Amino acid sequence: MSMSDMNRADTTFKYSGTVGMQHEEPLLFEHAHEAPESINLPGVDGEISAELSAFSRKQAANIPGLSEPETVRHFVRLSQWNHGIETGFYPLGSCTMKYNPRVNEQVVRLPGLAHIHPDQPEDTAQGVLELMYELQDWLGEVSGLPHVTLQPAAGAHGELAGLMMIKAALDARGQSQRRKVLVPDSAHGTNPASAALCGMHTVELKSGADGRIDLDELKAHLDDETAALMMTNPNTAGAFESDIKEICQLVHDAGGLVYGDGANLNALVGVARPGDMGIDCLHINVHKTFSTPHGGGGPGGGPVAVNDTLAPYLPVPRIEKHGDTLTLVNACDTSVGPVLGTPGQIGVYIRANAYISAFGRQHLHKIAEDAVLNANYVLHRLKDRYHVPFEGLCKHECLLTDEIQNKHGVKTLDIAKRLIDLGFHPMTVYFPLIVHGAMLIEPTETESRETLDAFCDAMLEIADACEAGDTEALHEAPLKPFRRRLDETQAARKPVLVWPE
Ligand SMILES: *Cc1c(COP(=O)(O)O)cnc(C)c1O
Repeated sequence: MSMSDMNRADTTFKYSGTVGMQHEEPLLFEHAHEAPESINLPGVDGEISAELSAFSRKQAANIPGLSEPETVRHFVRLSQWNHGIETGFYPLGSCTMKYNPRVNEQVVRLPGLAHIHPDQPEDTAQGVLELMYELQDWLGEVSGLPHVTLQPAAGAHGELAGLMMIKAALDARGQSQRRKVLVPDSAHGTNPASAALCGMHTVELKSGADGRIDLDELKAHLDDETAALMMTNPNTAGAFESDIKEICQLVHDAGGLVYGDGANLNALVGVARPGDMGIDCLHINVHKTFSTPHGGGGPGGGPVAVNDTLAPYLPVPRIEKHGDTLTLVNACDTSVGPVLGTPGQIGVYIRANAYISAFGRQHLHKIAEDAVLNANYVLHRLKDRYHVPFEGLCKHECLLTDEIQNKHGVKTLDIAKRLIDLGFHPMTVYFPLIVHGAMLIEPTETESRETLDAFCDAMLEIADACEAGDTEALHEAPLKPFRRRLDETQAARKPVLVWPE
């Protein structure tokens, strides 16, 4: 039995659920007393009508009996079990978990912004429409694709909206047979899923030995059924697609369009523009590149920026400016129609606007430069002790594998779980799928050198332990949290959603 197991076994949390001020937390129902205390509804006065009596309760509602402070403490304790960017470093590759500055939260809570309603008359919402219009403009400039919709509610939703526009443009050219979407095998899972949802089918492109798109492989799959290539640049291995111009040219020559997954815009912002590279359509995960806490399904914003070719198909309503007045314009015969019930996720866009404003046009490039510098710093400190699958500098995230540690029977999962004991949220593991035992680390521009050093030291301690054959803790990890290795497959396939089951 490990030390930490002994600690737990010794102490039964019997008095208050707390030991050393660390909270164990049972389910609300396990906590509960006999009778509900916090809910005190008055009885019904008079007769219940015949229509309603059919609906009257036959047995008491299964509401746990807890006082208000007990209920509040339960949820606050659970919230404290969560890791967030405000708790510590969050190196998840592909997710761009950057710190969201406090000032963004202050701005988004200004009463005039926080209390706005999507259905209120336009003439009472001019300020918010101005912020959105301004953001559209900036995103158009940053991407090099001047026409922007803010409607899509996340990156994946942007992919669907973008593909709908591509499909509409091809149909308008009389090319409805073009339904094939080429997707590199390094792509994020949302790419093929969005294509399928849009009624297209995908063909996977095998990456070259350097983790990049292989031109011959691409050429072999281009034909008059090709609707689009969906690609991420830099790609999910953190490598810049240096053949990007030739790639776009080949797709265009074959009559297709190029969809850019902009999740990695953090590596380019203010330095290089996807539109200049030949990309026709790009979604921007503003919750990644331009801050906003995200994860667990939201909130997000996935604006799509397009070139002149696709502009006629943008979703409506469009935010337009006539003189000094902003209006939402619905009339457009060629539009793919609305893709959201509101003009966009305003809270996310106010934060994005605030983040961009803080840098300004002159300094926006610092985001990309510092993010790339930080990732290369981590790569440099770890590259002699962890296997680096693709040589050379990385962009905003660095990719390692567990190949060296495998020789000592240690896998990526063990390394990730041991990091938790050492005080760090793990990196993204087993993605991208093109390398075995992937560990994808994205520090973002918001982390200090001291934080990166502490993380690298922990990684090096793990590498040392492997080499010394001291691997027991690695296989057992995490030893410190209340919950150890969870059966995540079981949890996903057979979630227990009601009590009692
Ligand atoms: C995050 C991500 C997506 C999906 O974006 P969401 O905003 O989570 O829907 C797509 N592609 C890549 C490469 C990503 O990292």
